[in-house]
Amino acid sequence: MLRLYTHSACLQHDPGQGHAERPARLRAVLQALDHDRHAALDRVEAPRATREQLLRVHSSAHVEHILGSAPPEDGTYRLDEDTVMSPGSVEAALRAAGATVAAVDAVLSGAVQRAFCAVRPPGHHATRDQAMGFCLFNNIAVAAAHALAAHGLKRVAIADFDVHHGNGTQAIFEREPRVLFLSSHESPLYPGSGREDERGVGNIVNGTLSPGAGSDEFRALWDDVLLPRLHAFKPQLVLVSAGFDAHRNDPLANIRLGQEDYAWITERLVALANTHAEGRLVSTLEGGYDLAALAASAAAHVHSLMA
Ligand SMILES: [Zn+2]
Repeated sequence: MLRLYTHSACLQHDPGQGHAERPARLRAVLQALDHDRHAALDRVEAPRATREQLLRVHSSAHVEHILGSAPPEDGTYRLDEDTVMSPGSVEAALRAAGATVAAVDAVLSGAVQRAFCAVRPPGHHATRDQAMGFCLFNNIAVAAAHALAAHGLKRVAIADFDVHHGNGTQAIFEREPRVLFLSSHESPLYPGSGREDERGVGNIVNGTLSPGAGSDEFRALWDDVLLPRLHAFKPQLVLVSAGFDAHRNDPLANIRLGQEDYAWITERLVALANTHAEGRLVSTLEGGYDLAALAASAAAHVHSLMA
């Protein structure tokens, strides 16, 4: 049984007409998961993250800035060129981060083995002090910090296959040897970080894909570089920043994956969790901006998580 955390508040974060990171993304994912094949999903409403949970990875100035910046009705508040808040954004961001925390609690208590958080805004670009790249709070980092602080884990892995580098996650954990962060991403591309020589304290592993790369290059990168590092780390918990914008139809990037590649990487990560982490895996939605590609890819991911 796979647990699905989501919340209707995540549909109320609206960066505005024409913005790629739009509520229709989450609607498309949830509709795809309504299919009969996913009837066995254990659907749970995401709680809000607490200040204490957010403050493990964010500065108090950043947390107070986000919590205090909800614009009045029908207004927007622009944090940077492409990161915008609407009246529903604070609640959405709290539920998105809270989903990953609840999911960590659920898999570490043994209530379920794996969980997927269908939430937005995404998180992996948010740094300790700054919202950026559509991200307000760093959801997967909040989850990892919770696993360390509240559950006392010693080795938590974060696998990030979003097409963009998870610069925020890397920056938050680059001096934290209890967290291994691995990322496959297109380079050059936003946000510009993620070179292979960025290694943190030996706990950061970046793998780059050239524009135009496809399934063969993606699978070789994971099989030859990233998965061996993950296995050597022997994580007690596997966290996944699941972005689906490396799909060939995605408008924001130039990698040519198909939904079958997302099934493939998910199967590998599930096997890894089964080998080292008693099966414990928590995945959360990051990017993916073509609605049909996103829906099909997220469904393939969830299907593989349920296998
Ligand atoms: Zn992305």
